[in-house]
Amino acid sequence: MSSFGKWSKQGVPKKGWICIGFEDLGEPAAECEMCENQEIRYVHQMQHQDYPNILECGCVCAGKMEEDYAAASKRESDSKNLAQRRARWLRRKWKVSANGNDYLKTDGFHVVVFAKAGGWSGTITDLATGVATQARRIYETQDKAKLGAFDGMIWLKTH
Ligand SMILES: [Zn+2]
Repeated sequence: MSSFGKWSKQGVPKKGWICIGFEDLGEPAAECEMCENQEIRYVHQMQHQDYPNILECGCVCAGKMEEDYAAASKRESDSKNLAQRRARWLRRKWKVSANGNDYLKTDGFHVVVFAKAGGWSGTITDLATGVATQARRIYETQDKAKLGAFDGMIWLKTH
């Protein structure tokens, strides 16, 4: 497998890469730019100081390039877990506040969505600090506002 694509090309570093981004394409929709021989759904964006381009790679190649297969594998399983959690998010038992708004307490946050002129919005409050973050955009539906709140909460958790 290591003889494919850029693995056998001179001038392409074989180790010392770092992962600078990760994306789930939803289905196998790209080809690993390192081995040029694998359809990939989960894209590891790999960067090297001695190489001009960022390469979009599959898990196996990314693991070899950064010499840490466990890290690459964890990025992929974290992403799968998150996608599953996001799919279940709307089916969770949302409570209804005194104002009639759906809310959830989860992961140390209070998440509420509410109707607003022109659509739906939401607020995520960090229960530890009391800091409230308001959705920046208006969503067409309540469900979309809830999914936006999920993405916002995950972002707050990881930044
Ligand atoms: Zn590959």
